[in-house]
Amino acid sequence: MIKKLYVAFIVALSTTTAIANTPIIDSLKQLLYTSTEEVDTRIATLESLVSNYISVDQDSALYYSDILKTETATHNKSQCKYFQLIGKIYKEQLNLLLFQEQSHKALQCYEAQGNKIATAKARTELGIAYAYQGKIKEASLMFNESRLLFFQEGDSLSAIDCSMHLGSLHMMQNEKALGLEKYSEALEFYENTKNYSQLAKICFNIGTAYNSFEGIAVGNDIQPDKKHLDKALEHFQKGLMYCKEIEDDTKSNSKFLESQLLGSVAKVYTHMEEYDIALGYFAKALNISKKIRNARSIAEIHYDIAYTKLKLGQNYEALDAIHLATPIFERLYYVDMIVRSKKIEADILIELSQYQKAHNICKECYEISKKTETLDVKKDALKCITKTSNALKIYRDAYIFQQEYISVNDSIQAIANKQNLTFQKKKNEIEKDNALLLQKNVLTELLLKKERLNSRIYALVSILSFLGLGLLGFIYVLRGKHTKRIQEKTQEIKNANKELSKLNAEFSLLNKDMEITNQKLNNFTSVAAHDLKSPLRTISTYSQLLTMRNKDKLEDKDKQMLQFVSNSSKQLTEMIDDLLAFSKIDQDLGPAQVVSIADVLDTVRNNLASVIQEEKVRLEISENLYEVKAHKNLLSQLFQNLIANGIKFRKKDDLSVIKIDTVDIGKDTITYSISDNGIGIEKQYFDRIFTIFKRLNGNSTYAGSGIGLATCKSIVEYYGHKIWLKSEVGKGTSFFFTLPRA
Ligand code: ADP
Repeated sequence: MIKKLYVAFIVALSTTTAIANTPIIDSLKQLLYTSTEEVDTRIATLESLVSNYISVDQDSALYYSDILKTETATHNKSQCKYFQLIGKIYKEQLNLLLFQEQSHKALQCYEAQGNKIATAKARTELGIAYAYQGKIKEASLMFNESRLLFFQEGDSLSAIDCSMHLGSLHMMQNEKALGLEKYSEALEFYENTKNYSQLAKICFNIGTAYNSFEGIAVGNDIQPDKKHLDKALEHFQKGLMYCKEIEDDTKSNSKFLESQLLGSVAKVYTHMEEYDIALGYFAKALNISKKIRNARSIAEIHYDIAYTKLKLGQNYEALDAIHLATPIFERLYYVDMIVRSKKIEADILIELSQYQKAHNICKECYEISKKTETLDVKKDALKCITKTSNALKIYRDAYIFQQEYISVNDSIQAIANKQNLTFQKKKNEIEKDNALLLQKNVLTELLLKKERLNSRIYALVSILSFLGLGLLGFIYVLRGKHTKRIQEKTQEIKNANKELSKLNAEFSLLNKDMEITNQKLNNFTSVAAHDLKSPLRTISTYSQLLTMRNKDKLEDKDKQMLQFVSNSSKQLTEMIDDLLAFSKIDQDLGPAQVVSIADVLDTVRNNLASVIQEEKVRLEISENLYEVKAHKNLLSQLFQNLIANGIKFRKKDDLSVIKIDTVDIGKDTITYSISDNGIGIEKQYFDRIFTIFKRLNGNSTYAGSGIGLATCKSIVEYYGHKIWLKSEVGKGTSFFFTLPRA
């Protein structure tokens, strides 16, 4: 949704026509396979190949970017461009978080290289990633910084492009006047160049901005302001003129823009109630969209045509047009437009007095509208269903929908009011800042005067000293040096402070991002675990059923195989549970409590009671176990995993003895040990066993998931402590860990 909004304001960011330039790609591939020796050429070729594939075939783009990554890594070459390209692929796939992540890496990489222009470009790209996600503050920071950098480096055109992005951010926040200001700045600048495609884009943006004073989509019932419509029309027409000037080699890319401009002109004419002229423009736009096979734009134009035909009273033609639009929106899963098209269809059916049919469509429309967050769309759906319920005299329903309509409308109003308020607040803040700046200037002026006066006094003193007081002269020189050093140091501190506050800002942004990502990850893990377990249960149940139903028919070998299936699915279920527990350790568990280890061990002994009894395990638990500051459920997991491992990896013929003891009582920490007399672990594996899924023994001998020790390590590290072990093969193993003393 946000991406859609952003693109609506800035065509420069949307995917243009996706036509592969086959000859270029072919010759690049040839170059790649012939230049096996020259690394730099290969890298440059790979970069071009990926760039050429990005908008047409992301799979190939990803394929070549993988090679690029390996190539740069093995030859120790810069990977900045790789990060940048992979970011662009994710952008194309609308994988926004990855787009942001890779752009961030590209930015850091270029910054480290000190490549200023590339840094500014990467910053712009990161800004776009933020803008797509609606992170306006972050995006605005990026665009402002890259704009400054571009200006400093003399790349005014790129700086102006940043202004365009800033303009689009204003438009997103409904600050139309501010948005227009930025766009106009860009237009003025570009008018001196012959960059027609950029000029056309800017005109499109300005036109859209003026048109948005009236609501972007046709079908909006707001009474339009003629002045704004004229301005919009003027800019769209100007944009079309620029489109005609665009050189042939970039023309294919400009076709999309041309169709958008034609469609926009048509929409303005629809607003002006000049329906016939509008239809003419829609036809031209449709023609181009079909040629470049842009499904979304084809559907949108059919939708607009349907609306215009309805206005003209050509109801059957309107119905035909909307029947062409809706299926495409459905295929693209473009919920807002599905709802809008259904509403238009219902409107047409009402005109044709087919109320029942219209009512059914409105019902669908209402159901679908529940999937969107766009209040305007919800409002449309409610309007539709209220109208048909009334027409069919289902007054009770009509009343309920009417109430819902009113509440949605109120929310829209409230949001608009809030936006107005923030806009006003922002304006006030800017004014306040300006006043402050003025005050600061006056103050600086005063300080300067004082400084000048001071230096005159010093000069006088120095003359005097020159005349006889040599000592004073000496002091003066010293003082001068000193002042310079102080000035230098102050400047350094100032710079460091600036850097620090920038880092702080970035850090808090990162923190916020991480919080969101963590939350998403947690949700994802729970859902994934749940979804994975259900087919596993089916596999296990059906393999057991199969065995039971064919008890007499199956050979022993078959039964054994089915048993394998059932066992493996059970094991996988256990692994998923373990994995889920593992992923939950880092969640915020609330404050730590005072926990008695003796209590924890009671719980663990209960949990493991059956295996302790069956295997005749002897648990030797120390009397003095103390209390720690932690979370009881985490500690139970920790002790249980280690004790269960001690039992599991026992020597088959010996009695298993597990000892739990304290080995060191410090002021703040206590060291515990859990020792067994089992099979032991070779020294070379001491570190690796703490890695997730790392197992030393086969599943046929010892069941397990390989997550237990990784979980133990995570738990201990959660409290900032350590876990380690001593072991001797054939004799036994002791695990040690520290915990915070209560
Ligand atoms: P799991 O027990 O599910 O296999 P863990 O992460 O708990 O996974 O342990 C990883 C591996 O470390 C085990 O597979 C085993 O090879 C080894 N290991 C762990 N604890 C012991 C122990 N007390 N004695 C011998 N080997 C052990």
